[in-house]
Amino acid sequence: MHQIENFINGEFTAARGGKRFEKRSPLDGQVIASVAEAGRAEIDAAVKAARAALQGEWGRLSIDQRTELLYEVANEITRRFDDFVEAEMADTGQPHHVMTHAFIPRGAANFKVFADVVKNVASESFQMATPDGRGALNYAIRSPKGVIGVICPWNAPFLLMTWKVGPALACGNTVIVKPSEETPLTATLLGEVMNKVGVPKGVYNVIHGFGAGSAGEYLSLHQGVNAITFTGETRTGTAIMKAAAEGMRDVSFELGGKNAGIVFADCDFDAAVDGIFRSSFLNSGQVCLGTERVYVERPIFEKFVQALKLKAEAVHYGRPEDHGVTYGPLISLEHQRKVLSYYQQAVDEGATVVTGGGVPKLPGDLKGGAWVQPTIWTGLADDATVVREEIFGPCCHIRPFDTEDEVVNLANDTQYGLSTTIWTQNLSRAHRVAARVEVGITWVNSWFLRDLRTPFGGSKQSGIGREGGVHSLEFYTETRNVCIKL
Ligand code: NAD
Repeated sequence: MHQIENFINGEFTAARGGKRFEKRSPLDGQVIASVAEAGRAEIDAAVKAARAALQGEWGRLSIDQRTELLYEVANEITRRFDDFVEAEMADTGQPHHVMTHAFIPRGAANFKVFADVVKNVASESFQMATPDGRGALNYAIRSPKGVIGVICPWNAPFLLMTWKVGPALACGNTVIVKPSEETPLTATLLGEVMNKVGVPKGVYNVIHGFGAGSAGEYLSLHQGVNAITFTGETRTGTAIMKAAAEGMRDVSFELGGKNAGIVFADCDFDAAVDGIFRSSFLNSGQVCLGTERVYVERPIFEKFVQALKLKAEAVHYGRPEDHGVTYGPLISLEHQRKVLSYYQQAVDEGATVVTGGGVPKLPGDLKGGAWVQPTIWTGLADDATVVREEIFGPCCHIRPFDTEDEVVNLANDTQYGLSTTIWTQNLSRAHRVAARVEVGITWVNSWFLRDLRTPFGGSKQSGIGREGGVHSLEFYTETRNVCIKL
């Protein structure tokens, strides 16, 4: 049983008044942690510490000193790799290999990549003519924005949190992280790392709690926070944007999606089946970039549906550390209820359930966990609820299409615009379709392949702004122009 405290000004502290909440394992529903819930007093203390750090030792470090420290953070995460893997597995219940191959190494990489970006990026300069013939010189400098509020979801907690904290600190800001109430462990563990490598007090703070009427809302409303970066549901983004309007604070939003997978008949069939299997079912479908709408060109439709069904039925349920386990539970019983209600709605609206649609029969303790079967539907209308709304579970609807224009229109027929994955061997078609799909990220013959220097974000209701590489600097720094009359 973990005792999880807030991390404020370099110290682990319980909430004033001792308010706490329970974190339950998604595997079996057992309580695994008692977590301090931050109230307004803790948010005030965190903001005060973060503001003081900007003026203190942290604010005086050179870029080289700052980036050296961030390299040390990454190295210490790597030294404590097993601790991070264990904590993230406890919080999410996802298999060991998902943690070791992607989620934890990416967390460490996020500190190194952005340390390199800030050291190497140039700023712009313009010489201009003036009436007296002597001219003037303009150049831009970047300063940290100040205190950044970092509000995070639960689906890839460490990766998504460090994706924001890495660049924020590399740019010289200080941060207050509000992890999801479902996944408090790794953000807290990172506090130990910060202290170990000597990141000054107050630079990295963590406050725990919920959203509305709790730590998330208090943080987003606090006027000592200069900007808010948020990943989560579009609806929550709307609430945070309203809070940020007070005091005219900047926001960067990575929000929901209802992403299309497009499979043309000329694809490498096996690669496409593997790719869509991953994009629909990795992390039990709890990936914002995942595909819940799959469009398959008619000549290969039946064959594709059968091949994906076989793979979905071959997953191995179990505890993350058990040998051969490939598939974990949903994050919570509450999310399980939500996903199962969509499974029911699909049936009510006339879906053919190709596979899944319910809760798997599991032995012993696992019966109490948040398990659902990977689920495939066909036969629904384009306006069916599960074709339109983000479910954030291990499921997809597969629909045949006949022409390129038709599938582009189908893919774009959504309020979201996060990502798409296109499977074709026809290079010209790949370029053509990629340019027409209204999303922030398009993969061709791949999915979830990320170069951290590239722009990441969503269009339409999937986000505001881009993070990644130099794009993160746009949000995490204030660009100032200096104009010198010569
Ligand atoms: P969520 O919006 O419910 O919660 C995210 C965070 O916001 C949590 O820390 C929560 O406590 C906090 N929060 C909730 N209400 C708040 C409020 N009123 N004010 C301030 N904070 C508040 O999202 P979730 O269920 O944790 O995550 C799943 C969602 O995240 C999905 O919609 C998914 O698509 C999205 N997501 C998007 C991306 C992306 O990069 N675009 C990545 C991962 C997840």
